[in-house]
Amino acid sequence: MEADVAVLGGGPGGYTAAIRAAQLGARSVCIEKESELGGTCLRIGCIPTKAWVQTAFALKEAEETFAKLGVRVGEPQLEFPVANEWKAAVVNQMTQGVASLFKANGVEWVRGVGRFKDASTIAVEGGEDVAFKQAIVATGSFPLCPPIPGLDSPRCVDSEGLLAQEQVPRRLVVLGGGIIGCEFASIFRRFGSEVTIIEMLPTLIPQEDADASKELAKQFGRRGIALHLEKQCTGVDESGDGLTVHFGDGETVQCDLMLVSVGRGPLVEGLGLEEIGVELDRRKGIAADERRRTTVPNIYAVGDCAGYWQLAHTAFREGEVAAENAMGHDAVVDNRGVPRPIYTDPEIASVGLTEAEAREQHGDDVAVGVFPWVANARAVMQNETVGWVKSIHETHYGELLGIVMVGPHVTDLIEAGVVALDAEATVETVADGMAAHPTLSEAVKEAGLVALGRAIHLPPKRRATAQA
Ligand SMILES: Cc1cc2nc3c(=O)[nH]c(=O)nc-3n(C[C@H](O)[C@H](O)[C@H](O)COP(=O)(O)OP(=O)(O)OC[C@H]3O[C@@H](n4cnc5c(N)ncnc54)[C@H](O)[C@@H]3O)c2cc1C
Repeated sequence: MEADVAVLGGGPGGYTAAIRAAQLGARSVCIEKESELGGTCLRIGCIPTKAWVQTAFALKEAEETFAKLGVRVGEPQLEFPVANEWKAAVVNQMTQGVASLFKANGVEWVRGVGRFKDASTIAVEGGEDVAFKQAIVATGSFPLCPPIPGLDSPRCVDSEGLLAQEQVPRRLVVLGGGIIGCEFASIFRRFGSEVTIIEMLPTLIPQEDADASKELAKQFGRRGIALHLEKQCTGVDESGDGLTVHFGDGETVQCDLMLVSVGRGPLVEGLGLEEIGVELDRRKGIAADERRRTTVPNIYAVGDCAGYWQLAHTAFREGEVAAENAMGHDAVVDNRGVPRPIYTDPEIASVGLTEAEAREQHGDDVAVGVFPWVANARAVMQNETVGWVKSIHETHYGELLGIVMVGPHVTDLIEAGVVALDAEATVETVADGMAAHPTLSEAVKEAGLVALGRAIHLPPKRRATAQA
């Protein structure tokens, strides 16, 4: 089979690249080994996880908000099999959607495991070779498992294993307080599990703004999630009908299920890449430049197999850019405005620099404003006043450097910050623009006003802090 552009992997990076190449006139072929398109994101990542987040949010509304707003319903109860049916239906709709887009754009899907034979052929296990002019590698990532004794127990699962559960565990231990671990901890606490997080670093989600991580830890504490920070897990033993997890200095916790979520590694082995001269690192993935070119001129790499971000939306953009370059255009990826959504309760969403990064890069020429949700009318009427919005700018030109949000629907609101950062907006652009009233999005403008010392909706003397 002949292709102008062959894409290895049908996840967010790969399917986007295949469709974009076809839009630009390529005979585009995508090789994907699973029975559905969509990759980790659609099948076993973003989409099923956030379907559960939605069930958790509905429970929260029923438990904490309906009665306050004058809506009487019966005692809320989780019907886990129904939640799982909903999750499966959402996943199915999304994966079928990609298959339809392939048909509509004339992208050919070759089902099977692909491996480079040389720099112009991919061999497909059990099928025909694909001869290509340009290729895009988008093979994704896999969950890492640390060498801790006992983790081979069937009660220790990765995120895919947790998503496949048919019963809510009474006691869940989460090993790793990164994004995936915190999202599942938040969901299962709402589903009724006793949840314990063990994390070897001193903070949850350590790459995020320090105030946001602190706020999350505070709210998790209030929600009854047990946190053991700066503690190493040393071993896991089967103990009758559960597990005994050993950590720290001789401490233990019992559980029925353990999620191992200590990070993901790029899937780069067994693809024949090194043999054809594609430079890669087993930890960091395939080396690719801002045009997504690898060290072999007609081979590109996108997404988790070649990236630092491990996000679906960075994979989407990299896929577009790689396809455009493969088709003779000149496109680059600009990473200034990468949104960082975290679907915990409370949600976190950021873009640009954290406050610490801004101070490191700009010294004292940094101004920060924090606007608490408790002063936003829409948040108050939604009964969702936990958290705040932080606006960070440099004081020479007023250029916006970052926005950090913790609270209601912030994963949707962060797009305002993405557009502002991409447009190199100043804090005045944001603070002097009009935000519809009453909305949650007003808080972005208000945080800018606080940073400029012109807050209208906070008391004059109040120095708004992230702990507000
Ligand atoms: C639990 C969880 C929740 C997540 N939540 C979010 C979120 O909310 N937001 C977000 O932005 N990101 C989230 N992510 C991350 C996101 O899923 C990934 O960043 C994204 O899927 C990366 O896309 P990709 O195309 O690089 O790789 P993948 O989606 O992993 O796709 C790679 C594809 O390549 C196929 N493949 C691999 N090797 C071969 C081969 N040799 N031959 C044929 N096919 C092959 C695989 O089967 C797979 O389908 C989450 C991840 C997890 C695990």
